[in-house]
Amino acid sequence: MEYRKENPPPYGAAPYGPAPYGPAPPQGPPPMMGAPPPSVVYPMTFGPDSQTLVCPSCHTNINSSVRKESTTKTHLFALLLCIICCPLVCLPYCIDSCQASNHYCPKCGAYLGTYDS
Ligand SMILES: [Zn+2]
Repeated sequence: MEYRKENPPPYGAAPYGPAPYGPAPPQGPPPMMGAPPPSVVYPMTFGPDSQTLVCPSCHTNINSSVRKESTTKTHLFALLLCIICCPLVCLPYCIDSCQASNHYCPKCGAYLGTYDS
């Protein structure tokens, strides 16, 4: 009597892996809920100089008027310079790059945006 070493039977059935928790919901477009169409997009990036754009307030094609205005950063910078060296305290108010360039409509005076260097 001979023992014939047999190979172990192959696993017939595929092992049960972790089943995914239900099918993923289809990523279709959301149903329209009567949302208003996107309004006209105005340039949201302003440079340090005057820019040509349509004023969102009076809808006129204008060249924005730029006013240099000191910001919190300007005041903080001045405070820092005040600590280091008092006579330099006015420096940030003289340097354009320390101030924000605010764009306004020359016609209606509406605020358009800020260039913060
Ligand atoms: Zn305007």
